[in-house]
Amino acid sequence: MEQITELFGSKVFNDAVMKARLPKETYKQVKKAVDEGERLDIATANVVANAMKDWAVENGATHFTHWFQPMTGITAEKHDSFISPTSEGAIIMEFSGKELVRGEPDASSFPSGGLRATFEARGYTAWDPTSYAFIKDGVLCIPTAFCSYGGEALDKKTPLLRSMQAINKQALRIIRLFGNTTAKSVKTTVGPEQEYFLIPKALYDKRKDLIFTGRTLFGAKAPKGQELEDHYFGAIKPKVQEFMKTLNDELWKLGILAKTEHNEVAPAQHELAPIFTTTNIATDHNQLTMEIMQKVAKKYDMVCLLHEKPFAGVNGSGKHNNWSISTDTGINLLEPGETPYDNAQFLLFLTAVIKAVDEYQDLLRISASSAGNDHRLGANEAPPAVVSMFLGDELTEILEAIEKDGKYVGKEKTLMKVGVHVIPKFPKDTTDRNRTSPFAFTGNKFEFRMVGSSMSIAEANIILNTAVAEELKQFADALEGAKDFTSALHDLIKKTITEHKRIIFNGNGYNDEWIAEAEKRGLLNLKSTPDCLPYFLHEKNVKLFTEHKVLSETEMKARYEIMLENYIKTINIEALTMIDMVNKDILPAISKYISELSETVKIRSEVMPNAVGFEKGRIEKLSALSLSIADKVETLEQLLADKPEGDSLTEAKFVREKIFEQMTLLRADVDSAESITASSVWPYPSYGELLFGVR
Ligand code: ADP
Ligand code: MG
Repeated sequence: MEQITELFGSKVFNDAVMKARLPKETYKQVKKAVDEGERLDIATANVVANAMKDWAVENGATHFTHWFQPMTGITAEKHDSFISPTSEGAIIMEFSGKELVRGEPDASSFPSGGLRATFEARGYTAWDPTSYAFIKDGVLCIPTAFCSYGGEALDKKTPLLRSMQAINKQALRIIRLFGNTTAKSVKTTVGPEQEYFLIPKALYDKRKDLIFTGRTLFGAKAPKGQELEDHYFGAIKPKVQEFMKTLNDELWKLGILAKTEHNEVAPAQHELAPIFTTTNIATDHNQLTMEIMQKVAKKYDMVCLLHEKPFAGVNGSGKHNNWSISTDTGINLLEPGETPYDNAQFLLFLTAVIKAVDEYQDLLRISASSAGNDHRLGANEAPPAVVSMFLGDELTEILEAIEKDGKYVGKEKTLMKVGVHVIPKFPKDTTDRNRTSPFAFTGNKFEFRMVGSSMSIAEANIILNTAVAEELKQFADALEGAKDFTSALHDLIKKTITEHKRIIFNGNGYNDEWIAEAEKRGLLNLKSTPDCLPYFLHEKNVKLFTEHKVLSETEMKARYEIMLENYIKTINIEALTMIDMVNKDILPAISKYISELSETVKIRSEVMPNAVGFEKGRIEKLSALSLSIADKVETLEQLLADKPEGDSLTEAKFVREKIFEQMTLLRADVDSAESITASSVWPYPSYGELLFGVR
């Protein structure tokens, strides 16, 4: 254990290191900047930069980088060395405050959604002192925000930090109303559970689809899938165990609180859950976790697949975004309390989340939308594309009692009045039974389960933070002027429940009846990325983001373009990969097998003129299939050539309705052919080998 405590955070310029290495006054200023969001002056930044450099060099670093999260969804870094020449021709290791707080990478190679057209190509990165610097592969990484020269956000961190400020401001107003005068700030917390697959690297290297797109575009089902449910929580294979151990070590060094690990439902699928932390740090940590998972897997001759749907026919991977709100003094505002007053505060925050999820269900759906995640949502393995909330029977009954001024039918049978009565205690574990809900209350936090495994959790949390900030603002506006606080509070909660209870659903979300019921309730069912993206720019959503200063309308339009572009490009690459695989590998393989079979038929007719074998029938079947495959691939090529250009939404819809559909048809034929072709000629490792290859 001692070793782990020593290992933990050993590569992080964290609070303990700063306390030990910075002059007292500087340390205080940094703390203040972190806790209260204040800017550091350049003199202080110089002191911090120098201490950071000394620490980094002592720990083997030679370079530094501003580490940021552009709209590509992955992280970016440009390394600069600490080396500075002196006038005597020698070198010294230098790092200034200016270099710490601001960098100027060329923004032109990152997606900007048109922002670049109006601004200079140069962008700048700005230090986020709330997220600790760390050393990765001999490089001091400084977490930064990435903006255009005009100040427009070009990344995922900037709006996330802005959304944290928005919810901080409004939540503080609320807790002050409840008499809390000691908390200085309110932050949201997140614990993202990460699913992934591990497959042998040697097999991965043989599949163009995995290499180019992260998922298998073809592949006949293996004789065995996940039907025996023998993988979930089953014994972890020794090689995977070693991988997990090394992964934990690497994550711990970076101060990432990796805690639990287990197998998931599909063969070769696993999960890692960290201990929760402040949202922007959790987001940085999740990006790092994904990167390090892939790196460590290679050490063990495996590849870590983070795609949402690497294999058809078995479960895909997601990310559970566990989210809550707490004060800097450690009070979880979504924890039902012990006294009537605490309970009333809990109910107010709870109804704020209910209202937020109902009013911004479209944005939440968008935060989980991507070409990859479209394969999961609504596919009976992940939540449906309809956003709803699970509260559990006990909590729902309490809300019903408040709404109807009725009696809570629990043990106490009292008339529930907010601010007067204590909520009857409900066992925590009953709140976590329903795994089919997209948004579940799990005792003292919410679990948003729609996010895809390869996606950044930034978007989901930007939306959650901002939407809840808006509801808290409305609540604070209503309550701050109230003459009788308790009855105003009661009425507000009651009204909110009445108006937004349609979003609460405790039943089975995988059920078709629910989809019909959801439609009756007026909930949205946005099936694909092109279906949901247009909602992003709806007036209410522009109002939300601009009023809370999280995104400007220009930034929103840019993001909308980037999301559409990303969708179009992803499917385009998949289609081109399919065409390449079919033309260069699959059709030639089928021909080869047909000629082998024909050869057998020929020989047999010479030696045994009257004998009949299976070969002729097989040749006929495969000939018909190969013709159909050739036709379909030609149609696909034609569709790609016909793709309308100009308006991205029109293009995205065409991609979904025509190109993607054609890819599905093509795949069906190829998979049929694979299942009756000799594995000796089939050009790619099979599903069976991929899914059961790690032993
Ligand atoms: P499980 O889902 O396996 O029962 P938990 O519910 O305890 O486990 O935790 C699941 C995830 O939720 C973990 O990553 C955990 O750190 C996170 N979590 C727990 N409490 C909070 C909180 N207050 N805010 C955000 N995330 C939390
Ligand atoms: Mg969980």
